Amino acid sequence: MSTVKDFSVEEKLSSIVKLQKVDSKLDNLQVLKGELPIEVSDLEDEIEGLHARQNRIEEEINGIQQFIDQKKDVIKESQELINKYEKQSENVKNNREFEAINKEIEMQTLEVKLAEKHIKDATEEIGEKAKQLEIAKKAVSTKETNLKGKKSELEKIIAETDKEEKNYNKQAEDARQHVDDRLLLSYDRIRKNYRNGLAVVPVERDSCGGCFNAIPPQKQSEIKQRKKIIVCENCGRIMVDDELNDAVEVK
Ligand SMILES: [Zn+2]
Repeated sequence: MSTVKDFSVEEKLSSIVKLQKVDSKLDNLQVLKGELPIEVSDLEDEIEGLHARQNRIEEEINGIQQFIDQKKDVIKESQELINKYEKQSENVKNNREFEAINKEIEMQTLEVKLAEKHIKDATEEIGEKAKQLEIAKKAVSTKETNLKGKKSELEKIIAETDKEEKNYNKQAEDARQHVDDRLLLSYDRIRKNYRNGLAVVPVERDSCGGCFNAIPPQKQSEIKQRKKIIVCENCGRIMVDDELNDAVEVK
């Protein structure tokens, strides 16, 4: 760090521009990383919801199936009773007994018909539910494919950004070594003050590249001379001429 004093203002400006560009790249990586995991977890939530819906429909179908089974038992019991009564009717002793048995048979026949109607309605209901289930299953499978894609995209991006992050962090460290502490301190302070993280800006179309405040020609020529650090009167950002700004590249 003792060598810092040996750098010219122009070199310091170059380094601070470099630091700004590297830091902006790091900011972009953070944004990228910040959004993808949210997308993935949103998708996971949706799939969980769809699975719950699928389970609910399956339970409903089971319930209806149980109802149908009960009705089938009812039919079986009534049928057995009818058989029994028919046998009894062969040995009736009088008219009254015959009437009574016939009434029982009639009642059981009615039971059977009612149960058959219930089974028919319930079977239609199962058909409807089966359609709903099919739709839910398709939705789950679409979302799952989508999720798989997003996850691998995320993993790839994380792997890539990790590599880039390391590269940029190293470059930022190097750039910091070429700037004096006072300038670094104000750079860090200004960067924190602005949401876009820009502390160093070029003069663009005779204005400050940060706040677009007009820069008088006299000041512009001072900036071009690169003999001292000049900040914007309006926003406080460090200003450089666009030539110097363009000359600094970050890879
Ligand atoms: Zn400004």
